[in-house]
Order: sequence, then C-alpha cells, then structure tokens
Amino acid sequence: MSNKIDILTLILLFLGLPSFSHGWGVDGHLITCQIAQNLLTESAANAVKQLLPTFADDDLSSLCSWADKVKFKYPWSSPLHYIDTPDHLCNYNYDRDCKNENGDKGMCVSGAINNYTNQLLAYGSSFSSAYNLTESLLFLSHFIGDIHQPLHVGFTSDKGGNAIDVHWYTKKEVLHHVWDDDIIETAEERFYNSDVEQFVNAIRQNISGSWSDQVEKWQKCSYNKTSCPDVYATESITAACQWAYRNATEGSVLDDDYFLSRLPVVNLRLAEGGVRLAATLNRIFRQ
Ligand SMILES: [Zn+2]
Repeated sequence: MSNKIDILTLILLFLGLPSFSHGWGVDGHLITCQIAQNLLTESAANAVKQLLPTFADDDLSSLCSWADKVKFKYPWSSPLHYIDTPDHLCNYNYDRDCKNENGDKGMCVSGAINNYTNQLLAYGSSFSSAYNLTESLLFLSHFIGDIHQPLHVGFTSDKGGNAIDVHWYTKKEVLHHVWDDDIIETAEERFYNSDVEQFVNAIRQNISGSWSDQVEKWQKCSYNKTSCPDVYATESITAACQWAYRNATEGSVLDDDYFLSRLPVVNLRLAEGGVRLAATLNRIFRQ
C-alpha cells in the first residue's frame, strides 16, 4: 500500500466541496496548525515535510481542514470529530462517552487522536507501510484542533450546540457554529483587519508573553504518554458548560456581552491546541 495520499483525489476533495461544520472552521484549524508548525523540533519538522504532499509546500496549516473535506469519502470518520457527553453532567469519561452511534468504542475525537498517534509512531519503522501516514498526520493535526473547541465535547441531545438556534448579532446561527467560526471571524474583522495572520501573531505573542509560564503545563502528558486527549476533552466540556452554553439558549441573541467575554476562551483554546499539537508531534517524531 502506498504511503503517499492519492494526491489528485485530495486536491479535488479540497477544492471542490462546500465546507461543513465539523469543529473549528477553516481559520480555527489554520491558526492551530500555524502555531504548532512554528514550535516543531527539527526532527518533527523534517518528518512533517516528508509526509506532506508536495503541493502543500511544506505548510501543514494549508491542509488542516482536510479531515472536514473527506467526510463523504470516509463516512466512518464523521463521529471522529467530537464527543457527545450526557446532558448537563458537565464531565467526560472515555469509557462512557467515546463511541459512535452504534456503540463502537473509541469512535470519537479522543479515540481518534490515540489511534493516529499510534499509527504515526510507526513512522520510519518496518510497520509504517501498514498505514497511510500522510492521512494519519492530517487527521491528527485536525483532531487535536477539534478537541479544543469546547462544543466538540458537548451535550448529546443538542448535538454539541448544533440544535440550539441563536442569533449572532443579527444573523441566524446555531450555537455550535458561533464557536466554530463566528467568534473567530468577528475578532478578525474587529481587531485584526480581517487578516488571520495578524490573529495568529497576537496569539503567538501571548504564548511567549503572558501565557509563557503555563506553556510547559499545556505540553505535558502524564505517565509519559505520547498524547493525552482525555485531558483536553475534560477541559472542553468544562469550558462548554462555563462559557458556551451559559446564557445561550434557544432563541438567545448573542452580541457584544457574549462575544467579548468568550473571545479570551477561544484565544486560549486555539493557543493550547497549537502548543499541544506541536508537543505531540515532537514526541512522536523524537528521533
Ligand atoms: Zn473537525
């Protein structure tokens, strides 16, 4: 089996299909991956370079929304973008919650992060030919972003806010989309001249500035594990209850009060996602 992705299929899928809501929107994933790519060790950066298709031009962030585009090609991958937790409990438990609608264990974003981490650990070994490691890298990079979007670890009955109709200022929207895209896009328009690069730079400055004493804690995985998605999932459902669901019920009008108080949470989750994606890839490609 070839390790290189079917490039033509990938280009067609990437350019030809409309975007669907599956975790951070395009900019959220771009931001996460740009933050990560800057923090890679030399050996991880080389491995990423090797695995990316040529047309990506060594830029991981250009393909960080790929996993959203292959939903039709890989229908089994849809439940891998999120976790449904019991309504109003505000906690997460892998054994209880990480499954798809058929009850298949591990079919959630946390299980997927573990799975693609393990596949990538075969990089450079004789087992590597068992997997398409380009796809493993693109899935992992996308899912570490998704698991940091608070509503990707949301309540079952409202589908992580997809079934809660709100107004984002004057626009009709579902709550999930507000967190995928609207908070980020409104921030870009209002504070960064509609330029995603300026938003990335602002988050980078926080990482090396006011958050610098927390970065080591974000990077750490207990028990010498290579990836620790259950920690991120627990943080997300906590933030979903504390920030996303609060004051946002069916018919709510979300405007400046909501936007300005939630933007710091989005900034933090994007930063943590980027730092942790880099830390995970650095651990995977240690040699
Ligand atoms: Zn997604």
